[in-house]
Amino acid sequence: MSSIVIVGAQWGDEGKGKITNSLASCAEMVVRFQGGSNAGHTVSVSGEPVVFHLLPSGISVPGVLCVIGPGVVIDPVGLVAEIDEVRGKGIEVSSNFLIDVGAHMVMPYHRALEAAEEESRGNAAIGTTKKGIGPAYADRYSREGIPIGLLASFDRFEERLRAVAGRKNEMLTKLYGAEPLDIDGMLEEMRRVAERLAPHLADTPELVRTAIRSGENVIFEGAQGTLLDISFGTYPFVTSSHTSAAGVAPGTGVPPSMIGDIIGVAKAYVTRVGAGPFPTESFDRHGETIRERGKERGATTGRPRRCGWLDIVALNYAIAINGIDHLVITKLDVLDTFERIPVCVGYRIDGEETDRFPRNAEVLARVEPIYEEMPGWRASTHEAREDGDLPAEALAYIRKIEELTGVPVAAASVGASPHAVVQFAEIL
Ligand code: GDP
Repeated sequence: MSSIVIVGAQWGDEGKGKITNSLASCAEMVVRFQGGSNAGHTVSVSGEPVVFHLLPSGISVPGVLCVIGPGVVIDPVGLVAEIDEVRGKGIEVSSNFLIDVGAHMVMPYHRALEAAEEESRGNAAIGTTKKGIGPAYADRYSREGIPIGLLASFDRFEERLRAVAGRKNEMLTKLYGAEPLDIDGMLEEMRRVAERLAPHLADTPELVRTAIRSGENVIFEGAQGTLLDISFGTYPFVTSSHTSAAGVAPGTGVPPSMIGDIIGVAKAYVTRVGAGPFPTESFDRHGETIRERGKERGATTGRPRRCGWLDIVALNYAIAINGIDHLVITKLDVLDTFERIPVCVGYRIDGEETDRFPRNAEVLARVEPIYEEMPGWRASTHEAREDGDLPAEALAYIRKIEELTGVPVAAASVGASPHAVVQFAEIL
């Protein structure tokens, strides 16, 4: 099969962008299938970090067609700004970029409502990125959304926006006591971005299916991670889309039978942004060392990420949900300085040992992790490019992950640069 799916096997920020970007040179197409500008994939392009929020991570690779699928929600103003910024860095965004007409738009009232909702939750706030992603998906499901394809018929778009935004202003003012939004101003801005985005709008599902049928390599790029999946994550501390591989079909129009190997990207440790249970979180200096060495701050929000040890129970859950065929372990180099590296091999919940990941967030919050310690390697892995270059303990760490998960590790990433990869097996 000539298509692969790249999914995050933890709570997001696993380095999927770098892996997608490095594999893109062997692909004809990269397709985003869910999420919105709450994603932030940092990719190193000619030694410079470039952050993609909505643009697929293959956009910097010449000759690759990048597609935003119908399952994504798009802030059109933000997307135009991102295109300009990326072009300013010398990256081409022209006929190599298509947006499916069925993707829904994130509008200013989605952001305003999300901010008002989060504030009204007080201590129970979810810790969303306040980019309006959740409300935009909610509108899609309540048939109140606006597909981006409507921008091509601006009069119809205007009629729809006036009706919807009018109702949203009622909610903002009457329910939350907030200021109403300026609908005329919104329309003016949308007229400008509609012209800019028009050349990229297309009906994409058949294009993607045809590419796969004709043997082209297609990468489906996921955003966030499995443990944030709306159905299988630690609800309610989740994102509002299907981040797992199951999201590819509804998010692109490609049937499950045409989808090939599933690649799960996991860091050599774990991080989490925002609220919610995190069994292996490290509150001591080790967590701080990981945060510093791994530069663990959100690419979209700048928030410091919570850091902790690799959690095999959670990883095995992600493997099961996605049907992961190969793992890619990223940021192995971040662990270079540790003398001992704990790996969580089981959970104790209310005194009972288990290797099952509890889906209930309240139960997960009561987990006491059971650790097995691995010896550290205390040497730089940064320059390693083949398995023989890795210190024996680092290789043993990778083999341990394979043993505990039963899934082969196809590659280990040892730095931010696209070349900093030790490949154990072909992926594409
Ligand atoms: P994504 O959303 O899954 O693509 O992940 P992010 O972009 O939020 O976070 C990954 C960060 O780690 C980026 O800044 C990458 O440049 C960086 N990165 C990726 N792989 C490695 C690695 O193997 N080692 C190190 N040190 N940094 C990496």
